[in-house]
Amino acid sequence: MPREPVTAFVALGANLGDARQMVQSAVQDLSRLPETELTGCSRLYRTAPYEAAGPDFINAVARVSTRLTAPQLLDALQALEQQAGRERPYVNAPRTLDLDVLLYGDACIDSPRLTVPHPRMWDRAFVLHPLADLAPERILPGRLAAVCDQAISPLSGALAS
Ligand code: AMP
Repeated sequence: MPREPVTAFVALGANLGDARQMVQSAVQDLSRLPETELTGCSRLYRTAPYEAAGPDFINAVARVSTRLTAPQLLDALQALEQQAGRERPYVNAPRTLDLDVLLYGDACIDSPRLTVPHPRMWDRAFVLHPLADLAPERILPGRLAAVCDQAISPLSGALAS
């Protein structure tokens, strides 16, 4: 029996090299994942590093409709991170590409390698603002106001190219 597609939200971030290009090409890569359709992407945002090191980040959130299970989606995202040459010399090191599963339908997952909804998403302007572009109804009241001290600005243009 084929699985029903699930709407999932994926956070994208980069702050090394050509971060904007990295995020834009990662969005294209998401559209090519097996059994997955890219159904939306937020604006791109520039954000100051938050609990991280290095230059400003470029962030976005993508919406996909996928028949992959949540662990399969995480596998696919981690493969894209590896492909982008991500190294993990230390926790929260600058990264060529960071991809996180924010939401997977309405699922609540708490396994050793996957927590969904992403446990830190509600505290992060760089997640909540792009998510608000796509799915404001998924953001609890007051959450955006609670991160108003975090510097973030949208880049202009369609997919900010
Ligand atoms: P990071 O360094 O931020 O990319 O974190 C990656 C680690 O977080 C991996 O070991 C994942 O297994 C784990 N992880 C737990 N929940 C999630 C999630 N919702 N999305 C992505 N990674 C997750």
